[in-house]
Amino acid sequence: MLRRAGPSLRHFLLEKNSAGHSSCSREAKMSRPVQARRLEGIDKNIWVEFVKLAATYSKVNLGQGFPDFPAPDFLTEALTRALGGGNHMLHQYTRAFGHPPLVKVLAQFFEKLLGRDLDPMTNVMVTVGAYQALFCCFQALVDEGDEVIIIEPFFDCYEPMVKMAGGTPVFVPLRPNPPKDGKLMSSADWQLDPAELASKFSERTKAIVLNSPNNPLGKVFSRGELGLIAELCVKHDVLCISDEVYEWLVYDGKQHIRIASLQGMWDRTVIVGSAGKTFSATGWKVGWVVGPDRLLQHLRTVHQNSVYHCATIAQEAVAQCFQRELTLYGKPESYFVQLPKELQQKRDWLVQSLDGVGMKPIIPEGTYFLVADISPFKSDVPDVPSSDEPYDSRFAKWMVKNKAAGQPQSSTLSPTCLLLLLPGARCHPALRVLQRGPQEQLHQFHPVLLCKGGSYPEGSK
Ligand code: PMP
Repeated sequence: MLRRAGPSLRHFLLEKNSAGHSSCSREAKMSRPVQARRLEGIDKNIWVEFVKLAATYSKVNLGQGFPDFPAPDFLTEALTRALGGGNHMLHQYTRAFGHPPLVKVLAQFFEKLLGRDLDPMTNVMVTVGAYQALFCCFQALVDEGDEVIIIEPFFDCYEPMVKMAGGTPVFVPLRPNPPKDGKLMSSADWQLDPAELASKFSERTKAIVLNSPNNPLGKVFSRGELGLIAELCVKHDVLCISDEVYEWLVYDGKQHIRIASLQGMWDRTVIVGSAGKTFSATGWKVGWVVGPDRLLQHLRTVHQNSVYHCATIAQEAVAQCFQRELTLYGKPESYFVQLPKELQQKRDWLVQSLDGVGMKPIIPEGTYFLVADISPFKSDVPDVPSSDEPYDSRFAKWMVKNKAAGQPQSSTLSPTCLLLLLPGARCHPALRVLQRGPQEQLHQFHPVLLCKGGSYPEGSK
């Protein structure tokens, strides 16, 4: 029999306070913890703090690393066509695992890149940006107690995502080998120690996260390095989550090699991609995963029980852009050929500028990030040895507060991101500067924007 609330409880629930609100909203506080245990230790986020700082002290919020130049005309034209083309169904839900025209063209494109046949319906899934793709990977493939190897330095979301899935991140650093001839370091000079990498694999290892080209170093892993990782994955039966969002941003004629194309790797690799990075339109948040059905079927389960569906109209426009790129593949008019050429010039300019003011830039082989050693500037912002806060975090705040004013909004140069870090820091919130102004501004340390979380190899001085 259903018990009815007694008069005193009814009275308590219905009693109004003087402002006319029910007293239960005022008094009936919950005493039990509300936060799920899986969020413990991952609630802080450096972006939140620095975006706020940038908003307070800077005229521009250069926040996350996104381009400040316009997206290509063909992208906006594709969206206009999709909107104005009279197909009213493009305003409605589409297939949950990816709009058919988009998964079809992605399958065609990746067939070319990987040299294997792909089924658009089972080997490709569309996500809300690469971020959701990564989330699906960790939720679908990582269990309580599983270890996931993460190569340092790394894109900051990998660690909390692994933890949220119940897994344990195991870090392995890229170690710098400065050139002996006094030349500037390149991201290629940062390498895995094969013995150290091998020592991280065990029967508890479920997956390794590979990010090539790498955020933040800009490192493009060589065939030899990928071969080493692949060999260990096969030997220990380990999966590879391959974040390739910067696949088209590779400089100096270098080639981005897909680990999934190496012997024994297709069956154990999920490739993660992003239309935002590919077509310089990060706000669109269209991403994808490409991989074997045996892995993707589990990602589909996560997707259908969380986000379920991505914006149809954006998927339609991205599909048209891929169609264009498929036709122009390898030709000079291709965006995938033009974009890296443009950004390479900006990279070179930024490298020269930083070198000119005494920083030690690490020349990125890819991506739109640049990491620079800020140790020569310790006299400007002295270290506080007793502080818990990493030096580069304090340096970044000092820059934001003291040097960010007057940043011109109308900028002509652009969006190479600069990450500053101090060798020896375990956890570098690295500083991103989007260098938008003329060169002299760099001398005044002008445009400081944001500190980004990440991790720095332990003990690499
Ligand atoms: N992976 C890496 C390495 C990134 O740098 C980013 C974005 N900064 C993402 C994934 C997320 O991409 P998206 O905006 O498509 O979600």
